[in-house]
Parts: sequence; structure tokens; C-alpha cells
Amino acid sequence: MTSPLQGEDRRFDSAPAHHSRRKQKMLGQNFLIDSNISKKIVSLAEIQKGEKILEIGPGRGALTELLVSKGNLQAIEKDKWLSVVLKQKFKDNAEIIEGDILTWEVPPVDVIVANLPYSISSPILFRLFNYDWNRAILMFQEEFANRLVAKPGSKIYGRLSVMANHYVDTKKLFKVSKTAFQPQPKIHSQVVKLVRREPDYVLDDFNTFEKVVRSIFTHRRKKIRNCIKLSFPDIDVQKLNYMDLRAEILQPSEIAELSNSIFALKLE
Ligand code: SAM
Repeated sequence: MTSPLQGEDRRFDSAPAHHSRRKQKMLGQNFLIDSNISKKIVSLAEIQKGEKILEIGPGRGALTELLVSKGNLQAIEKDKWLSVVLKQKFKDNAEIIEGDILTWEVPPVDVIVANLPYSISSPILFRLFNYDWNRAILMFQEEFANRLVAKPGSKIYGRLSVMANHYVDTKKLFKVSKTAFQPQPKIHSQVVKLVRREPDYVLDDFNTFEKVVRSIFTHRRKKIRNCIKLSFPDIDVQKLNYMDLRAEILQPSEIAELSNSIFALKLE
């Protein structure tokens, strides 16, 4: 395959033979080749002077080369070969870490920018929620992004939407065609902005909330009463609100209220 990259960036192509197509697939390596998209993503991150930036999966540096001039950049790349080339290319301007975002201890940063490996978008996102950052501009598969930002009443509002809403406000920014990547993925992508904030409710017990969310969305066509009976057999559902409804119309704050009531009954 002919590389669309020119000059020194062709170093990214000279990976050893064992750097197979299979490995590229496993690491979700669909590289951005449309520089207008890279520019748009970095511009929408609205990075202020001196801010700390984290890039996850810099790959061939399509976003990295724009981010280096914006602030104090750390970038973590799992692919050993790519991280060696990135270290050479950005040696004085960015800290390139060869590592796995799923095990790395994320330092406090202001902004996260990433075109994420799609197969592990969800574990990456929920791991990031355990760390300290202010906003993130992330590219996901379109279908995942739609579920992430979905609101009550929508058919795709579910566990992902409610659990993400616990940590962030979400906003879809723009869609990216599969032709913007090499190799091309099978489906389109979507860039989403996430902003950290406190939820508009107070939880008495996070584990109960997680269990309630899983329970009511696993059988989303069932009435909430039947879901709760299955997951919390010792709880008297007569004492709870929302039992005749279905999960997809409940606001996150109403699910939190339900979770707090269940937790209180468990303590009785
Ligand atoms: N940012 C580049 C771009 O936009 O062209 C590459 C994006 S590509 C979709 C995802 C990148 O994440 C790849 O470079 C891949 O090697 C890297 N990656 C995959 N799994 C990773 C992990 N667990 N931790 C860190 N990087 C990972």
C-alpha cells in the first residue's frame, strides 16, 4: 500500500515485518489522513496557553504534531514501534510514553485529545473517569457516540448514557467519514466533547446505583418492577417509585433517587 505520508513521516511505514496487519487491527490502528479533520479536532479542544494535554494513542502523530505547539503534551502509545518513531520525531516537544492506557496511572491534566482505538473505547472512557481532568475531545465509532450522548426517551438511551452522565456533560461535535482514515474502518466516526462536572443528584451508594442501572437497562422492555425484583429479590418493590415505568424514560436523577431508596431499604 502506498503511504499518503511524505518525507520523514515515512519512517512510520518502515515497521519491521512482524508488525503485521493483524497487530494493526488488534490495536485499532485506523490513522487519520485528513489534515482538516485533525485541525478541527485540535481547534475544538480550545487549549489555553500552559494547559496540560494528554493524547491517547498518537499513532503516526496526525494530532500530536498539532498539539505540540499548543501546550504541555504527554502522549501514551501502546505500539512499541510507533512510540520509538514518535520519540525521535517529537523528542524536545512532547513526552511520549510507551504504555497501555488501560494500566497507566493517568496524571492530572487539563484536556484529553484522542482518536481512540474503537474496540476498547468503553474501558478507556470508564478508566479515565477515575482520574483528574477537565475536558476531553474524543473520536468514537458513530454508534458508540450516539449511545453515549443519548437522552431519556431515545431508543438508544441506556447504561452507557447514564453512567457517563454521572461524570460528564456530553456533546456531539461532528461526524467523520471513514474515508478520512487509513486503513478505512467499516463505519463512520463521531467527535464528542466531554466536560467534567458533578451530577445533578447525590448518591448514597455508588455500587447500588451501578447495579440498578445495569438491572433496569439489561431488560429494557420490562417494567422496572420486574427488573428490580430479579436483581434485588429481598427488596419490597411496593415501597418504591417508578415501578410501572420502563427505564428508557427515567432521567438519571430519577434513577439515582430509585437507587437511594433501594439502598435505604437494604439497610433496614
Ligand atoms: N491518533 C492517531 C490518528 O488519529 O491517526 C492514531 C489513532 S488509532 C485509531 C489508535 C491508536 O491507539 C493507535 O496508534 C494504537 O496503536 C493506539 N493504542 C491502541 N491501544 C492502546 C492502548 N491500550 N494504550 C495506548 N495506545 C493504544
